[in-house]
Amino acid sequence: MNCNQKQKKVAQYTKTVCWGYEAENGPDVWAQLSPEYRLCCAGIHQSPIDIVNPTPAELSPITFNYCSTSLNIHNTGNTIEVAYQEGSWIEVDGTKYHLLQFHFHAPSEHTVIGNLYDMEMHLVHRSEDGALAVIGVLIKSGSVNTAFNTFWHHLPSVSGESAQVNDIVLNAADLLPSTKHTYRYEGSLTTPPCSEGVKWFVLTTPIEMSHSQIAAFKAILYGNNRPVQPLNGRKLLVDTTEAP
Ligand SMILES: [Zn+2]
Repeated sequence: MNCNQKQKKVAQYTKTVCWGYEAENGPDVWAQLSPEYRLCCAGIHQSPIDIVNPTPAELSPITFNYCSTSLNIHNTGNTIEVAYQEGSWIEVDGTKYHLLQFHFHAPSEHTVIGNLYDMEMHLVHRSEDGALAVIGVLIKSGSVNTAFNTFWHHLPSVSGESAQVNDIVLNAADLLPSTKHTYRYEGSLTTPPCSEGVKWFVLTTPIEMSHSQIAAFKAILYGNNRPVQPLNGRKLLVDTTEAP
């Protein structure tokens, strides 16, 4: 069934069906759940992608300016998201993108030469004029990651549950690998409405978490990863200059 045929089926669904990752509301049928989700099927610059054969390029580095935030964490039912206080940003190619929130997928959404990682963290940023930029961090099983200890035992286990803990302060800078080379491409949100024009920066170096840290997340959410999408001729670059 092509996208137009799928779109004609939109009306067959009730508007109360929320998108998710089950057979009845998952990535295969997102575009059928609402006309606003059309790009999830018809888009040609979609994310995530399989990262394979990136072209090395000298690209302007990303400047990270992340400040600390108090913990405000929410289980949306489809991910666990940490809202970020105003004032943190990245700058790339002369544009500042403000950090709004970060959240997690398990397993990873991007694959590297066909291989999934245990998890993936997305730091979502927006510029003054509304352009989105996402930093993706792949997560593999390994050593305990003490930077996550501050808030990992506050993961809200129930959909809709939130936790606001003012005396827990964290800084997203501590969650990043020390080496900050990135794969770069133009893609989309990996969740409905799958809007395009999103600048993707996936760090080439994964971070590690212990098996039990990963298990703690997977016990709450597992399978919230959209399958990889075709590249459709887009450029996939890897920067040879590191962020300062
Ligand atoms: Zn995401």
